[in-house]
Parts: sequence; C-alpha cells; structure tokens
Amino acid sequence: MSDLGDRIGERFEWMSGAELAEFQSEALRRSVAQAARSPYYGVRFADLGLKPGDVKTRDDITKLPFTTKEDLRLSYPTGMLTVPPREVVRMHTSSGTTGKPTAIFHTREDVDCWAELMARCLAMAGARSDDIFQNMSGYGLFTGGLGLHYGAERLGMWVIPAGAGNTARQILLIRDFHVTVIHATPSYAMHVAERMVQDGDNPKSLGIRIAALGAEPYTEELRLKLQDLYGFKAFNSYGLSEMNGPGVAFECPEQNGMHIWEDAYLVEIIDPDTLQPVEEGQVGELVMTTLRRAAMPILRYRTRDLTRVIPGECPCGRKHLRMARMVGRSDDMLIVRAVNVFPSQIEEVIMRNKWIGGNYVIHLTKKEALDQMTVKVEIAKAAFDGSIETVRRLRDQLQRELRDQIGFTANVDVLEPGSLPVSEGKAKRVIDERE
Ligand code: AMP
Ligand code: ZN
Repeated sequence: MSDLGDRIGERFEWMSGAELAEFQSEALRRSVAQAARSPYYGVRFADLGLKPGDVKTRDDITKLPFTTKEDLRLSYPTGMLTVPPREVVRMHTSSGTTGKPTAIFHTREDVDCWAELMARCLAMAGARSDDIFQNMSGYGLFTGGLGLHYGAERLGMWVIPAGAGNTARQILLIRDFHVTVIHATPSYAMHVAERMVQDGDNPKSLGIRIAALGAEPYTEELRLKLQDLYGFKAFNSYGLSEMNGPGVAFECPEQNGMHIWEDAYLVEIIDPDTLQPVEEGQVGELVMTTLRRAAMPILRYRTRDLTRVIPGECPCGRKHLRMARMVGRSDDMLIVRAVNVFPSQIEEVIMRNKWIGGNYVIHLTKKEALDQMTVKVEIAKAAFDGSIETVRRLRDQLQRELRDQIGFTANVDVLEPGSLPVSEGKAKRVIDERE
C-alpha cells in the first residue's frame, strides 16, 4: 500500500494552472458569499454597495475591500464569525501583538482543511508516516503547536508534542525516540545546536533528516549554517494566524521559494503605498484571501509581509506559485539615521562570519540626538583564543562589513558565548530604546 504521504496531495497539489484558476474562481465565489454572512462584512458590503454576486471570477478580487489587522481588532471578538457558535470547534489568536489579539475561528471542516494543508507541506519536504516528529513549538493559542501537530498526525507520523523550551529534554527525546523530523523556530534550532556543541556533543549525531523552520524571518545564510550543523535539510515554513497559521506556504525539495497553496489562498502582491499590484517578480506586500475557510473567511488580508513572487515554473512540477523569503515587513523596517534598515540585512552579514555564534541583538539608542545602532554578537567558542587582540580585529572586521551592507557605521560589541538572552519562541532581535 502506498504511504499516506504519497496520497495526501492527490486532489489539489498537482493541479494544472488552468485547473487551479477554475477552482479559485469557484472557491472565491463561495468565500465571498460566506463572508457576507458575518456582521462585519455584512455592513462593509452594504456600505460599498457590493453584492456577493458581483464577484464571478478570481479577477474580480479587486472589487473587494482590503482587510487589515485593525479591522480584525474592531470586529473583536466575534464580528467576523459567519456560522452559529455551536459549529465552531477551535479558535486561535495571533502572537505578540499589543492590545487586543486577533481571534480566528474554525469549524470542524476548517480544522480538517488546515491539517490537510499542513500535511501536504510536510509530505512535500519528504516526511512519511514512518517518521517520528517532534514539535518544538509552543502549544496553546499560538498556531505553531496545534497547526503542525494536526498536520503531522494527519500524515500518520508518530508525534511528540514537546512544546517550547527545556532544551535538555528536547535533546533527550530526539535521541531516545530517534526523531527524524522536527519543527522549531530557526533561532531555537540554533540555540539547541549551540548548547550541544558547548557540551561537547554533535547535533549531527541526532540523525534528524528534515526540519521545518519558520514563524520568524531568517536568511539563507542561517539556513545553511543550521543544515551544516545538524546535517538535516531545512525547509522554510510560512504562515500567519489570520490565514490559519503554518501550512500557508512551504518549500519543496528545490529549497528555492515557498509554494503557497493556491487552492486555499488567493494571492496578490501590492505596493503598500498605492495599493496597486506590483510588476511581476517585484517586492511588495503580500495580500491573501482565504478560499477554503467557512467559520471566518478573510478577504484581501494585508499581511504587511514584504516578499516577491518567483517568476517561472518550479522544476518540481507544482504549479502553486512560489514566493521568496520575506525581506521584512512594511512595518518593521528600521530607520536609523534616515537610512532604511531591514534586520535581515544585518543577519546576513553576521551569518556569513563563521566566528560568530548564532545569537545576536540589534540595539538602538540615541546619543545627543543621533541614532546609535549597536550590533551585539557572541564569539564562537572555537574562535576565541583568549587574546583581546583577536576580539578587536574581529570586531573591526564586522564593523566594516556592516558598513558596506547598511551604509553607515554601527557599534559592534563582541561578547563571550552565552552572554545574550535566549528566547525559546520567536527571538526578539531588535531592542529600540530611542524614545
Ligand atoms: P503569527 O500570526 O503570530 O503566527 O505571526 C505571523 C507572522 O510571522 C507573519 O506575518 C510573518 O511576519 C512572520 N513569519 C511567519 N513565518 C515566517 C517565515 N517563514 N519567514 C518570515 N516571517 C515569517
Ligand atoms: Zn517546487
């Protein structure tokens, strides 16, 4: 009998472009009609004089209004719910937002669909039902726990819901149960590896084959470093709670861009200022419409994530479009001394340098009205020979490389291994104390 992992994508994964287009138009009509049942979209449509029947094909998407995080907050708690409360089986919220969270609801079919999308991601990366899967992501309202959990179970894997933190236990479980597939944030995966190396252990000895790494932005350089340390293949995993959570987009074995499951999401890339579509292949804000969610369809959601669609066909044969790594958010861009800086630019430089450990912090302060940026890194144990001269030389070298990348001179602090705070969930890389 064939493995579930070979069959999970039968219906949607290998659709041709034309099949996808037809399905999207049909699903969009359903989604819009369903959205109109919610108090929020009911009023919004009435204000705009819009009827669900006005949307006939996917090209009619532009007739619909955008939805923002602010709209979700205004309709909190249940203003976007379209079904009777007894049909809801689950809710989640977004992470780390200040003030009221945004709450997302699911019917049983919604949860099933999400599990299918997530299972397709893991299967695409090569996971099969005889794999042992450890989920190192926090459970609870955060979607990385149950989202990956249900997907991995759907695939028939043996699932270890380890949750976040407790590094020694994570390592013990991986080793004792011969875990072959993990899910973690890239920063936590780096932390675990560094802990092992510090203890004279070798992450390669764990025998992990596949890692799903996501929930926060990271660079190709960090991926390569992690692959090198563990000997696994690392796949970028993208999602946001408003669009279910993980399972929105994932890399195929080509590891060159993440396929967005277009049977479930209609994608637009817009210029965040003009709100018009960008030219094909240009960077813009990712906007998504749910196509397969009943309890809470969301139309044209402005994710604030900046990315671009990779033009051309993927050699893997899937027609679902591919997006490149996030280059930042339309709202996380740092402006330092009037220069726009994305934290990922700094990370790229840091990860290129083998003598630096995986952890770093970008600290912003003001000195006599001038922005000061201090990049704090840890010297790797192997690179430290006890001489101050070495530390100075490395610091100056990093300072020069950073200047070339961002266009101004940042302070660089080179610290002993283990000096910087470690996060077990999403790393807080930027500390802005300018005001
Ligand atoms: P949340 O809704 O709390 O799960 O946060 C979702 C946000 O996390 C997204 O809008 C992105 O900004 C970020 N995110 C998730 N996955 C990735 C990824 N693979 N690369 C970059 N950013 C990500
Ligand atoms: Zn592909």
